[in-house]
Amino acid sequence: MCGIVGAVAQRNIVPVLIEGLRRLEYRGYDSCGVAVLANGEPQRARSVARVADLDEQVRESHLEGTTGIAHTRWATHGAPVTDNAHPIFSSNALALVHNGIIENYETLRETLRGKGYEFVSQTDTEVIAHLVHSLYQGDLFAAVRAAVKQLHGAYAIAVLHKDQPHTVVGARQGSPLVVGLGQGENFLAS
Ligand code: GLU
Repeated sequence: MCGIVGAVAQRNIVPVLIEGLRRLEYRGYDSCGVAVLANGEPQRARSVARVADLDEQVRESHLEGTTGIAHTRWATHGAPVTDNAHPIFSSNALALVHNGIIENYETLRETLRGKGYEFVSQTDTEVIAHLVHSLYQGDLFAAVRAAVKQLHGAYAIAVLHKDQPHTVVGARQGSPLVVGLGQGENFLAS
């Protein structure tokens, strides 16, 4: 179980998210990533190297945005490869980071496959992303609230959706997640 940082601000928040990950590095991790809303879509960078490498990637690709989430991963389901690194996307609309374990992910995955969702990672996390996406009807908070009712296990999550560009929703059960209220900007961190 590693680290999560999230932010909604009025400035480019990527350097703050990366700095947040740097401060969580001491916990150990095998991969890391960051996603922001840019040009109306979630865009991400992921690395199986260090946060310094992720930092280089975001600088080179000019990944910038005012709403974002970031993650350091300690793999429990699926190898520490880029495809399994968070943020995990659903339908290019939603990005999600997760610390913890979803015990009933296999059952949820079968149900979501039945609804047409394709799984591109080996993580338990991907079921949460597709579940929230499947329940989204214009209110991300409501969708997350409905989704967590179906999750068994320990988790902290942070989610953003392209149709709610100034919102990051967090939820937790048995894993830490705190909210930081700033002036004109708010944060989430594990
Ligand atoms: N279970 C998730 C995974 O394997 C999250 C691991 C973590 O807490 O970093 O991707």
